[in-house]
Amino acid sequence: MSKSQSGWAEELGRRADDLVAMRRDFHRHPELSHQERRTAEIIAERLHAAKLEVRTGVGGTGVVGLLHGDRPGRTVAWRADIDALPLTEILAAPFTSATPGVMHACGHDGHTAIAISLAESLAARRAEVPGTAVFIFQPAEEVLGGARPMIEAGVLDNPRVDEVYGLHLTTLHPVGMVQVRSGPTMASADAFTVEVRGAGGHGAMPHLSIDPITAAANILLGMQSLVAREVAAQDTAVLTVGQIVSGTKGNIIPDRAVMHGTIRAYDQRVRDQLVERLGVFVSQIAKAYRAEATLQLAYSCPAVVNPEAETAFVGRCVSDDLGAEAVSEGRPVMASDDMSLFLRERPGCYFRVGIGPASGLGRPHHAPEFEMHEGGLAVGLRAGLGVMLAALESRD
Ligand SMILES: [Zn+2]
Ligand SMILES: [Zn+2]
Repeated sequence: MSKSQSGWAEELGRRADDLVAMRRDFHRHPELSHQERRTAEIIAERLHAAKLEVRTGVGGTGVVGLLHGDRPGRTVAWRADIDALPLTEILAAPFTSATPGVMHACGHDGHTAIAISLAESLAARRAEVPGTAVFIFQPAEEVLGGARPMIEAGVLDNPRVDEVYGLHLTTLHPVGMVQVRSGPTMASADAFTVEVRGAGGHGAMPHLSIDPITAAANILLGMQSLVAREVAAQDTAVLTVGQIVSGTKGNIIPDRAVMHGTIRAYDQRVRDQLVERLGVFVSQIAKAYRAEATLQLAYSCPAVVNPEAETAFVGRCVSDDLGAEAVSEGRPVMASDDMSLFLRERPGCYFRVGIGPASGLGRPHHAPEFEMHEGGLAVGLRAGLGVMLAALESRD
């Protein structure tokens, strides 16, 4: 925010209350992945009112807003995700979720409100804005299913986007802190299903059956040694089975057991290694138990990898604006985000903005008691505005 700083600061000051009110409205009316209709409608209305060029129904329920500044410059995208989670909120507030079983427990209500405010701020002072800002409101991040259809619909090509930025709010950092980290900052995610087929029979006579449960249990334990014994100690990976489904009764050996799990890694090599070796473990261990097993794997999304140059640029923007003490490198997290797909197409940076308490750990994301310290919203908006204004400026 170097140019006529005070004007922009006033602009942000005017929006502070509205930013919180908007977040609370989205929080009260959360919508699950691919069903963000009300949310998309409000986004589109507000962008229309701010005189952006608006496209709706992009890659499903996605919305894109184009803002042409009056000065020449570059084309830069800001991406925000807009969906909520299947959870029942515990905390009681006037803006607690009004939809049973659905909750904004990841902060995407805040991402949506910040991105709208950011668009409106730029639109209000369009004469000072260089280039073209592309606001991408992406649905279905929580199922890692929203980025791909939007990219396929051409949001980065029409017009051609030079760079893409965005933020995720986090309770891991207190309000006032911004985490900017280059390299892998969030893990890849690959969902898998193992189906073990045996032959059912009487629980008292296992020798006449092929027990898929015992085979599945050994596959589950065996696969952990892939991380412990085959991934280099300097690298990191997680292999989790979160669901096992089999059987009907304690004295019946069923004919089938199914396990659902996820693989997380920062490095593409490690990811490929685990996928390949998991397939071998599944089929060979099953064979040792006279069963047959197959592995089905969905390559959900790669790791979020922030390139050096654009990350250093964001670090400079944020520290110029909020002070060097507000920026930390922090640690990468093993969670995933399909922002990675945008960053695979274009350079940019995905950074994190604190919404945690001043001391101690905030309540975790994806928990029914998740809570946002709303002071972080203004920090996110300010950081986003600084980054966008500087990124849109021509670099001759
Ligand atoms: Zn989430
Ligand atoms: Zn999230």
